[in-house]
Amino acid sequence: MLTITNTDTSIAAQLVQQIRDRGYKVFTAPFADPPNSVINGATSGIFKTVQLRPGLDPDHKEEVIAHELAHIVLQHSDRRLNGDLPGGTLQSEVEAATTAYLVLGALGREDNPWPKAYLYNETDGDEDLVRVVLPIASEAAADILRRLP
Ligand SMILES: [Zn+2]
Repeated sequence: MLTITNTDTSIAAQLVQQIRDRGYKVFTAPFADPPNSVINGATSGIFKTVQLRPGLDPDHKEEVIAHELAHIVLQHSDRRLNGDLPGGTLQSEVEAATTAYLVLGALGREDNPWPKAYLYNETDGDEDLVRVVLPIASEAAADILRRLP
């Protein structure tokens, strides 16, 4: 397990810094939620932005930030354009959820319930998809963890 020794702050703040280091702006603003769903975060590869829902509790916010950073590290907008995402949106969401789960687990945040909740929700018990995604997510998680101070 890595220990964060940086005097500056939370895991969430360090993950936000990684998003900025990759050339993205991070901002908080309400979403126009589609019917029967709630959007907590969104990344635009075109506009280089990460939008976060206002008012998330700290644990939830940490998960959403890790998830959106994962979308960036996993180059989902480019891969979607290049046809390099055979499982489409579902695959990209499972990759991001798995990466966030691995990152926050490696940082000792097992007490945060959100990474597991997202992972279960996105995979819906699809073990074949998990097998495809795991090596991809492991590499992305290692990349994120390597860049922490
Ligand atoms: Zn996502």
